[in-house]
Amino acid sequence: MTTVVDVAEMRRLLEEERARLSGAAAFLDRENPGSLEDELGEISHGSADNHLGDMATATYDRELDEGLGEGVQQTIGEIDAALGRIEDGTYGHCEICGKPIGAERLKAIPWARLCIEDQRRR
Ligand SMILES: [Zn+2]
Repeated sequence: MTTVVDVAEMRRLLEEERARLSGAAAFLDRENPGSLEDELGEISHGSADNHLGDMATATYDRELDEGLGEGVQQTIGEIDAALGRIEDGTYGHCEICGKPIGAERLKAIPWARLCIEDQRRR
């Protein structure tokens, strides 16, 4: 896998996904009031409700196998970490072996920290 990853594109994907997940988290918060309120205050107060519903639906149509609620928050944390790695210039390299993570894998999971081999080993 030597395909070069377009970091600018990945950043855009990450930010898009983050916005989607924030919408989903706000949606879940409405179902389960109180748990996510503090972190998502600006979003739950700033956007139209039906929008959040659409975004949540769109998110679940994608391969979000993380479960709900905490899984969404965790993924948002992973996305923030990935955006930080873009800033650091370490984005797209496996945290264990340091090899580049395949572009195909990054397109499927833009916040992936590990190459597919190390992920499987876990
Ligand atoms: Zn690796």
